[in-house]
Amino acid sequence: MDFELNEEQRMFRDMVRKWVVKECPKEWCRELERREHEYPQELWDKIVEAGFNGIGIPEEYGGLGGDIVTQVIFMREFARHAAGLGWIWGITSFSGAKSVGFYGSEEQKQRFLPEMAAGRLRTAISFTEPGGGTDLLTAMKATAKKADGGWVINGEKIWSTTADTAEYLLLIARTNKDVKKRTEGISLFLVPSDSKGIATTPLPKLGMRALSSCSITLDDVFVPDDLMLGEEGQAWYHATKTLNNERIMMSSMCLGMIDGVLEDAVDYMKIRQAFGGPIGRFQALQHYVADIAMWQKQTELMLFNAASLQAEGKPCMTEAAMTKTIASEYACQAADLGISILGGMGYSAETDMQRYWRDARLLKIGPVSNEMARNMIAESLGLPRSY
Ligand SMILES: Cc1cc2nc3c(=O)[nH]c(=O)nc-3n(C[C@H](O)[C@H](O)[C@H](O)COP(=O)(O)OP(=O)(O)OC[C@H]3O[C@@H](n4cnc5c(N)ncnc54)[C@H](O)[C@@H]3O)c2cc1C
Repeated sequence: MDFELNEEQRMFRDMVRKWVVKECPKEWCRELERREHEYPQELWDKIVEAGFNGIGIPEEYGGLGGDIVTQVIFMREFARHAAGLGWIWGITSFSGAKSVGFYGSEEQKQRFLPEMAAGRLRTAISFTEPGGGTDLLTAMKATAKKADGGWVINGEKIWSTTADTAEYLLLIARTNKDVKKRTEGISLFLVPSDSKGIATTPLPKLGMRALSSCSITLDDVFVPDDLMLGEEGQAWYHATKTLNNERIMMSSMCLGMIDGVLEDAVDYMKIRQAFGGPIGRFQALQHYVADIAMWQKQTELMLFNAASLQAEGKPCMTEAAMTKTIASEYACQAADLGISILGGMGYSAETDMQRYWRDARLLKIGPVSNEMARNMIAESLGLPRSY
């Protein structure tokens, strides 16, 4: 049993850490995040220049190779400074590229993966609809009807993050209503975001304000046959292959934020003075950081366990759901205590605690809510399905 990164992974982590410190200082990320609906192109350009888009994409398709553990290491280090802006790298890397990699045809892999690896092609995920994200199958109204040479999509999507800047939308729509189970008859498309009939509207939100989450209307949008990903009608079954990936990657973003909170809290406790000395000598505050350090360790162990199982192709649905739940709750609790430790400065837009706090909060809601994740964990204990 080995709980350590191997030498190659440690070298990769150290290289990413150095890059993050040099190229993405926290104060710079803070300024970028507050630019509401203004895509942080500068940040994207730096990622592209460093070649990090290739992480997790096989070398034969122009990527750098590496498994989910490598992706986790990158996301953790990146989110330590970037917090929720980590999505800028993540959405294409662990959703778009993984979807094409898992169930795209050889022709689609050749066509899309090198472009993604080079940072020339970005995807947004367009699954959630206004009627609901948790019970997506019931809420889903988007349809794709067969036409000559392709499909015509109509419907609405909501909360699609970066849909206004990505080149393609990874979108699900019902292609067959006449099915025995609601999980059948749904298909996945890579929809060019500049297609005729698409309108996107950025929505105001609490965190990651620079990365727009959008509502989308699709009005008779034509998508050619070769942009359907995977088998027709099987999207729900295909998607389950990437869900663990997404949950594990979200957990690594949470762990990066816990790292960021902890280092800022300890630094501040060493310099801030009260009652004749640094506030770091107060036991109440020491207990706060001790708690955060314990949450960090627990999250790290669970995360790398789940990521290793996923990398080895072993079942890990419950481990991924547990990790995502714990990681998001600890990240929120850590940022909340971080604000208390910094006092008024914790609430100030001039420090990062408020940014970690706002960005971490989303991850208790999505991509799967923690209530739903708990349902799945309970089900794995042999209890009846509650939904
Ligand atoms: C900022 C942001 C970015 C997002 N980005 C994307 C994106 O890029 N692409 C995308 O497709 N989606 C995205 N989402 C959508 C996200 O995945 C959904 O918000 C999430 O799945 C929850 O769906 P909902 O908001 O419709 O809540 P609802 O489904 O309406 O749930 C409301 C509440 O009911 C609870 N609930 C529902 N069913 C059960 C049950 N059976 N048992 C217990 N509790 C239950 C939920 O846990 C929640 O607390 C984003 C959302 C936000 C806020």
